[in-house]
Parts: sequence; C-alpha cells; structure tokens
Amino acid sequence: MEVGLQQSRTGFGAFARKPVFVVSLLVVLSAAIIVSVHSVIDKAISNGVKGHAESSALSWASRFNATLTDQSSLVVNGELTDAQRQVTEASMLFGNAYSFTLYDMTGRTAYSSDYGVTEAKPDAPVDQVALQVVLTGQPDMTVIQRIGNSGETQVYVDAFVPVTRPDGAVLGAIRLYIDRSHISSLYRSFLDWIGYLLPAICAIIYAIPAAAFVLMRQKAYARQDDIRNLSMYDTLTGALNRHTMNVECEKLFAAKRTDSRIGVLFVDVDKFKNINDQYGHEFGDAYLKSVALRLKESVHESDWVARIGGDEFVVVCQHINAKILAARAEDILEASRKTFEYKGTSIQGSLSIGTHLAEPKATAAEAFHAADLALYHAKSHGRNRVEPYFPELDAALARRNAIEARLHRALENDGFEIYYQPLTNPADRSVIGFEALLRLDDDDEKPISPVEFIPIAEDAGIIHKLGLQTLRRAIAVAKTWPEYVFLSVNLSPAQFQCGDLDVQIEEVLSELDFPASRLELEVTESLLLGNEESIQSQLVGLKQQGMSIAMDDFGTGYSSLGYLWKYHFDKLKIDRVFLEGVEFAGDRYSEIIETIVTLGNKMGMQVTVEGVENENQRAILDQLSCDQYQGFLFGRPMPAEDTHQLFSTGFGSTSKSDSPGSLSKEG
Ligand code: C2E
Ligand code: CA
Ligand code: CA
Repeated sequence: MEVGLQQSRTGFGAFARKPVFVVSLLVVLSAAIIVSVHSVIDKAISNGVKGHAESSALSWASRFNATLTDQSSLVVNGELTDAQRQVTEASMLFGNAYSFTLYDMTGRTAYSSDYGVTEAKPDAPVDQVALQVVLTGQPDMTVIQRIGNSGETQVYVDAFVPVTRPDGAVLGAIRLYIDRSHISSLYRSFLDWIGYLLPAICAIIYAIPAAAFVLMRQKAYARQDDIRNLSMYDTLTGALNRHTMNVECEKLFAAKRTDSRIGVLFVDVDKFKNINDQYGHEFGDAYLKSVALRLKESVHESDWVARIGGDEFVVVCQHINAKILAARAEDILEASRKTFEYKGTSIQGSLSIGTHLAEPKATAAEAFHAADLALYHAKSHGRNRVEPYFPELDAALARRNAIEARLHRALENDGFEIYYQPLTNPADRSVIGFEALLRLDDDDEKPISPVEFIPIAEDAGIIHKLGLQTLRRAIAVAKTWPEYVFLSVNLSPAQFQCGDLDVQIEEVLSELDFPASRLELEVTESLLLGNEESIQSQLVGLKQQGMSIAMDDFGTGYSSLGYLWKYHFDKLKIDRVFLEGVEFAGDRYSEIIETIVTLGNKMGMQVTVEGVENENQRAILDQLSCDQYQGFLFGRPMPAEDTHQLFSTGFGSTSKSDSPGSLSKEG
C-alpha cells in the first residue's frame, strides 16, 4: 500500500460540499414527503369516502323511509306495490345503489332486488348484521375498496339501515350496495393534486434558503480549502510544509511496514544567506522556488517534498532501497547545479544532502534525526555533496553539542585562552609581530582545536561576540610589546554579517588607545563570496583607519587573482600546504611558492609563508623574497607571558607553548 498524500484530500467531506449532494438530499426529502403525504391522503380518502357513504346511505334510508308508504306490508309480505317500486327505483338511482335487500324483524330476507324474493320465508337464514340493525336501530356500514379491471379504484358501501315507521318504530332493515367510486376518484384527484402541490410548495419554501445556504457553504468551503492549502503547503514554493510533513510521516512510519523501506533526504541550499544578501530577497525567493521545482522534478512522483525551514527541504521516498536512494540524491544534486537565472541575473547554486534509509522499525523522528546528521556531515565536509548517515555521526553530534555548551560557558567566564605565534623577519629572524590564536580546553582539560570549535561558534551565532572579546584581550597584551611589534587577529566571515565591523573595531581601538597601524586583520577567501558591497565597504573602512588586511591561507581556496585586485590586500599568507608539498614534491612546490611571492610583490602586497617547520624549508624560502615567516621553527603559539622573552632573546625559546615542549625541544 502506498500512502498518497495528495490523494488524502478527497473523501466524504469533499463530496458533501458539492451541490449534487444537497440536490440529492432535497430529492430524497421531497420523495419522503410525497410518500408520507400520499399515505395520509389514502387514509383521508378512505375515511372521507366512508363518511360520505355513511351519510349518503343514512340520507337515502331516511328519504326511503319517508317516501315509502305502508312499510309494514312490504316487510311482512315482501311484495312491492307499484308506488313502493317507484320510490325504491328512484332512490336506488338517486343514491347510486345498485341492489338492495329487505329484512324482516327477525333478520330474514323479505325481499331482494337481485332475486325478486316476494315473501319472507321463516326458514330463510338470519342475517346477523341485519338482525343487529333491527335490534339497535343503528345503521351498519362497510366500505369496500378494490382495483377495477382498468386499474381504477372502486369504492362500494355495504350499508344496513333500519326501516322505520313514521313514528320511529323499527320494522326491519335494508341492505344496500352503494357505489361511491366517483366520489373516491373525485377525492383522489383533488387530494393527489394537493399531495403534489404541497411538497412543491414546501420545496420552493425551503429550496430558496437551501440554495442560499449551499452557496454560502460553498464559499465557506472554498475559503476553508484556501486555509487548508495554506496550512498544508508552503506558500512560497508549493511544497508541503513542515507541519504536514511531520504529521504525515508520523502516520507513514507508524504503519511499521516490513515489506518496503522508507528513505529520507535532508536537503540544504548551500550559502543561501549569501545569495539572499547579495541578490536580494526577491531573487532569493525565486531561487527557493526553483530549488523546490527541481526537487520535485528529480524525484519519483510518489515521493513527498517539503520545505521545513528557510532553505531546508525534506524528501521522503517510499518503497526504496539504499542504491536507488543514493541515485535519487545524486539526481537532485545534479539538477541543483544547473544555472539559475532570474531577471537577467544568473547563479550556479548547489545543495548539501544527507540521506538515510530508515530501519524497518524506526520512528519518523529517528529517521529525520539520522538524515539531519548526514546533512550536517555533508555541510561540514565542504557542501555541494551527498552524504549518507552512519552511526558514528551520533557520537560526532554529541561532541559538537558538548563543544557548543563549552563555548557558551567559556564566553561567559573568560574560559578561552589566547596564544600568540611569532611572525619573523627572514633577514634577521627578529620577531616583528604575533598572530593571536584562540585556545579552548574541553571539560577534561584536553585542548579542542580552533579548527573544530570556530565553525561551531559560527553556527551557534557567538563568533561575533567571541571575536571582539579576543580582539580586546589581544590588544591588551599587544600594548605590553615594543611599539614596532604588530598584532595579527583572525576574523571570521560571520563577523562581517553585522555590516559595521569596521566601526565596531574602530571603537575598540579608540577605547583601548591602540594604533590601527599596529593591527593586522586576517580574512579568508570565503569571506569574499558573501555580500560583496557590504564586505567591501567594511574592508575599505578598516583599511582607511590604517589597519592592514591579510588574505589568510592563500592557495587553499579559490586563489582568485580577481579578489586580490579588487580588495587591495596588504598581505598574502601562503598556506602551509605549499611548504608541506616542498617536502615530498620538491621543486614544483617551491616554484609555486616563488610564483605567489613574485605575484604578491608585484601587486604591492607583503607575503608571509606559513608553516615553516625546519631549516630545510627555511633554506628554500631564503632564496625567495618573502616578507615574513611563521612556523614552529620560529615559535609555536605561546601564552602571553612567554612572548616577552622573544624580544630579548630573539626567536626560539619559550617556556610554555602549544607544542609538547618549547621550540628548543622540537629542534
Ligand atoms: P590559521 O589562521 O591559519 O592559523 C595558523 C594555524 O597554523 C594555527 O593553528 C597554528 O598553530 C598552526 N601553525 C603555525 N605554524 C605551524 C607550523 O609550523 N606547522 C604546523 N603544522 N602548524 C602551524 P591553530 O591555532 O590550531 O588555528 C587553526 C585555525 O583556527 C587558524 O588557522 C584560524 O583559521 C582559526 N583560528 C584560530 N584562532 C582564531 C580566532 O581567534 N578567530 C578566528 N576567526 N579564527 C581563529
Ligand atoms: Ca590566520
Ligand atoms: Ca593561515
């Protein structure tokens, strides 16, 4: 069974909204009214006909009694005189009676129009009804209804009425058959007419308000549909929203099927914030729409696609295996890399995707958690990639959370240490500056590398505060150094998000009375991928105050000449991977370093080579015109109090440093 999300929107509720339902309801109601009205009418007809028959039989009898003379002789000898025959025939004609029987006082037949009995026979059978009528003086009526040969309703009255003398004495009884069919059909046609008219009138009376009601309901349902759509779908992209995805996945996973597996993809738009900042929200929205569209186009039609956060999507696939899930994720990634164009601006975006094939008994929350971890892994391993979940990620997350908690505590309680690594002049090996490097121990006093905790601080949104705190503390230390010694501080791209980092740093400098010319700020190329205008203006602001800006880790990122031209860096710091390369690939790497040094010099930049660890490397570098060296050979990062020794003794002797021992121990 495949759970279809879109399909679940139809059902009885939707049917009930359709006019056809209301019309059917009206028809059924009308039919019920007609049936019940007609059963009432049938009763009314039979009662009415009976009543009418009774009264006409009684009036017939009274007229008969009044006009008939010498009733005693008739009853006694059963012979009609001419006068009596005339009266009888006229009465029969008048009363629609077509036969009659005369009974004597004992209830025996005295005369019958059918058989022409002329004489009462003592041995004739007693008619009990006639006898009853004679004894009580009360008439007895039975209405007989039957359907005639041509389908018409025939109604007869079998009436027994007493025969009385003018003084009221009962002499006998007369039984008549009176045909009331014409009255019945009159009644019926009249009442039938009412029977149809009544529901018609009712229908009109309630159809008008009903129609108004239906219209109003339809409008209300349409609004409800809108609201339902709003509450089910993400208004921007038309994908399912987080709530719907959660609710539906709860149901899907609760089914705990063993016949097929469910795959979950967590998808995050790479650098969406930068895209938004750089090209504006309208562009950002259009881009998100296109991401959703590409997702839908890349997955199977039964897969669910939801936007669960600003730039985060989830895809849930049913009936899938690990291989197909991985292929689907790759298809999505491939689609996301295609150029996106909007109003003349085009970008080439990418996605980070975490995948997880849920265990058969897993809950939705467990599956989502795993896919989220896989996504985190993809993001922290360079983005623009697909990473599957593996159990060790749980331990990694636990460590990350522990580090984040540690960061928060350290920020509040001055728990960070700052170490300082010397930058030396190649000519005389004198120390001309220090780079401030953050240090943090975990709860077991084991050092956590800044390479690990800085990105966590960025994610946790505390890097800005941490950066300014580091700057203040480092300046306080730098003020104890000779004036020719500069301080270099690393800036994270996230610190530029405030938009006025230049102003904030200016305030710190003036507050601590530290000259801008002694401060160097190290940024990485990743900074330059952000909102160009804002970053450029902050960099210009910093330079105008006299600070120098160094491009850190040059050669590991985009190494774009364009950036170097555009931002007028004061310094290039060649990443230590190049010196490591010299160790195993010799000339090729030293040539690259030489090229970068020449390039930097030609562009008016100073060049620092990082990671100088031994004399061999230094000898190679000495043949190039580098401006500064930095590396364990000249000094490991060290606590503030150790820095002072370097001014008296030159590089090389520290009492406490990052290393297992001082530089002298490392050789
Ligand atoms: P980075 O700015 O490239 O800093 C230089 C790193 O290289 C330091 O690692 C330093 O200890 C190491 N290093 C220096 N000389 C040598 C050498 O000869 N050989 C080897 N193998 N390594 C050497 P650390 O202190 O672990 O810092 C790592 C990164 O953390 C830094 O790289 C920087 O990107 C970041 N970081 C450190 N402190 C801060 C800070 O206060 N703010 C920001 N935003 N980032 C920081
Ligand atoms: Ca640095
Ligand atoms: Ca560096």
